[in-house]
Amino acid sequence: MPDQKPPIPFFDLTRQWLEVSEDVHAALERVFATQQFILGPEVAALEKECAAFLRVKRAVAVSSGTDALLAALMTLEVGPGDEVITTPFTFFATAGVIHRLGARPVFVDIDPRDFNLDARKLAAAVSPRTKAIIPVHLYGQAADMDAIRGVAGSVPLVEDCCQAIGTEYNGVPVGGIGAFGCFSFFPTKNLGAFGDGGLVTTNDEALAERLVDMRVHGMRPKYVHHFVGGNFRLDALQAAILRAKLPRLPGWIAKRQAGAAHYRDLIARAGLEAKVRLPEELSGRGHTYHQFVVRAERRDPLREHLAKLGIGAEVYYPISLHEQECFADLGYRRGAFQESERAEAEVLALPIFPELRPDERACVVAGIADFYL
Ligand SMILES: *Cc1c(COP(=O)(O)O)cnc(C)c1O
Repeated sequence: MPDQKPPIPFFDLTRQWLEVSEDVHAALERVFATQQFILGPEVAALEKECAAFLRVKRAVAVSSGTDALLAALMTLEVGPGDEVITTPFTFFATAGVIHRLGARPVFVDIDPRDFNLDARKLAAAVSPRTKAIIPVHLYGQAADMDAIRGVAGSVPLVEDCCQAIGTEYNGVPVGGIGAFGCFSFFPTKNLGAFGDGGLVTTNDEALAERLVDMRVHGMRPKYVHHFVGGNFRLDALQAAILRAKLPRLPGWIAKRQAGAAHYRDLIARAGLEAKVRLPEELSGRGHTYHQFVVRAERRDPLREHLAKLGIGAEVYYPISLHEQECFADLGYRRGAFQESERAEAEVLALPIFPELRPDERACVVAGIADFYL
């Protein structure tokens, strides 16, 4: 292992900035000239363009992915006494919003093949109090939506698409399958703003209209409030930046997928498949590789070894949500969700951002080989 290689960052937005800076500057100038900073025509245009890209009837831009989930659940009138089912192996926000509304997060273990909510275990968790189900398309691969829908019946599905913009489930973009799809434009997501941002999608016009009001304190018209909403508005500057970036998203996704295929090849050629098990691509689930996640033997020492070589690698997520202190009152014990607990000990995300070069991927795999062989 040559030790004079430059460090390989886990993620680096400065490379993408070189590609988009001209268009982003023009977009910002457009907003500066109007001095209209909240919602307005830029946000409306972004919503139209996102709805077209995601092939849904309506897209409503909001302040973050967390607020997308929160506003969606509020629109479905989730509250005290309700239960909302989701996975314990996700970013905190998915379950945090359930708790914030006074409802109870009910966890269902993951399928070890795709790290997503296991539809085979869902039926046992459904009760008369189940108000919604939040499948998460983790790492960019769609959950088993047909199977989940089959068990859910008429219970609305709120898709957490924060890691999966552009992913297609059997040819249908995620976000248009359930009652709502919730997206994040956090800077590190596959389509990132220059700050916080989010989006809610739906094919139900009535739900969309209610959500539009929810975004502005349940208000329509001005100063008339029908229900209590929030400030879930997106800035015009963020919308203008996202509009400059959206046309490039399919190309960036293709680069992530090509990077993933390259990793597979490199890891197989190095004879490392038994040590770092490759992510499975399930039929019809359309992985867009927000993360390229392997299951590694002796994961933590491997990660430390890579760090010493200047190679970034991250763990999503080191503590399942049922084990979090803030959810202790839900009464879950360690051992309750064994696949989630196994995953938290094994998963390691390798650098996969679109601008990562092939020689850098080769260096990452050489670093892994250096540890095991
Ligand atoms: C990023 C993310 C969120 C939250 O999005 P923010 O924009 O950071 O609020 C929710 N769920 C998942 C799965 C995410 O990855």
